[in-house]
Amino acid sequence: MLSRGCGFNPCSICGAGARNGKLGGRLLLQPSQPVELRSTAEADRHYIDRPRVNLMLVVMKAHATEEQVRAVCQKIEALGYRAHSMPGATRTAIGITGNKGEVEHGTLEEMPGVQEVIQVSKPYKLVSRDVKEDNTVITFPGTNAAIGGPGLAIVAGPCAIENRDQAFTVAERVCRAGAQFFRGGAYKPRTSPYSFQGLGEEALRIMAEIRQQFGMKIITEAIDHESLDLVEEYADVIQIGARNMQNFSLLKRAGRARKPVLLKRGMSATLEEFLMAAEYILSEGNYNVALCERGVRTFADHTRNTLDLSVVPAVQRLSHLPILVDPSHGTGKRNKVTPLSRAAVAVGADGLMVEVHHQPDQALSDGPQSLFPDQFDELMTQVRQIAAVVGRTVPAIGVREPVAAGE
Ligand code: PEP
Ligand code: MN
Repeated sequence: MLSRGCGFNPCSICGAGARNGKLGGRLLLQPSQPVELRSTAEADRHYIDRPRVNLMLVVMKAHATEEQVRAVCQKIEALGYRAHSMPGATRTAIGITGNKGEVEHGTLEEMPGVQEVIQVSKPYKLVSRDVKEDNTVITFPGTNAAIGGPGLAIVAGPCAIENRDQAFTVAERVCRAGAQFFRGGAYKPRTSPYSFQGLGEEALRIMAEIRQQFGMKIITEAIDHESLDLVEEYADVIQIGARNMQNFSLLKRAGRARKPVLLKRGMSATLEEFLMAAEYILSEGNYNVALCERGVRTFADHTRNTLDLSVVPAVQRLSHLPILVDPSHGTGKRNKVTPLSRAAVAVGADGLMVEVHHQPDQALSDGPQSLFPDQFDELMTQVRQIAAVVGRTVPAIGVREPVAAGE
């Protein structure tokens, strides 16, 4: 449970939650002492904005009717809060969000069908298993593709859409190898303003044609509000990239989108920051969110990033959201993508995002980490074997043969 004090429990700075004023053998500061916060990880953590009192959850009885659930939601909204109904296998939970503080005790407890009203002890709630025990499965009607079910979601394609021929050549190969999702950047968040920035809407149109021809679902990144409007129109899944994981206004906009969102982990984000970023999206009403581990910055310099596979079971323990792994950005090196893909599936990831290019040496971005199509074929063969060991499958999307234009 959350404690008094700054909300970080136990907190080494204000002392809340520590016994006898001591924490880990160190004497804590007295409240009257000036507190100098240095730029240490600990001090940074102190600044994490942890909501304390307005974390509430209505747990409905197992046999509560839909009308009773609706009545509770209406009551919550009438009180000026937002209700998030989360049906589960045995019962429905309703998350309450809003900035007004705690709902007065007794207001909801007495309503028909309500089992109990509880405080959620974690700073995130809608993404938490406390609110929804069952895994979230994002489905795509009319296909076998899903993110979070027993089948693995395989996302593959070039880093960026460079032209129509390049995109179609790669799409044909990754589709044939079994990817259900095609990726390709239309808007590229590049470190240098002089690097290729993406083809913008033209790339979105090319990807829409690829969906039409191959049946794969399209995932592409939005980097700001303007591009999100267009990505929402053309794509099947909106990607929010590592560099925007804490762009809170973009996260809120994604939360109002009618398409699922793939949220990549920031390159220095803790697990809690990652989940809080997802919470922003859910809190606006979009519950179709998948996470993606893509490596974090460490002292290791043999890879572009350090792929943190341990975050997969850590996320799955705390959250119902699916999590994919991107070994391409996670390692930055082609020769490490397949081994890390095997490991990701073995550790329980719900899918992979892999960069593939038919001419990586000429790629306009991320060539060194892009697999040749033949290597992607081999990756899929190996991933299928590992998937079987951990009780997962790699479902076909349902459309295999190219569909003639206009059909
Ligand atoms: C990408 O997937 O194209 C990308 C830019 O990844 P990240 O945001 O993880 O760097
Ligand atoms: Mn890339």
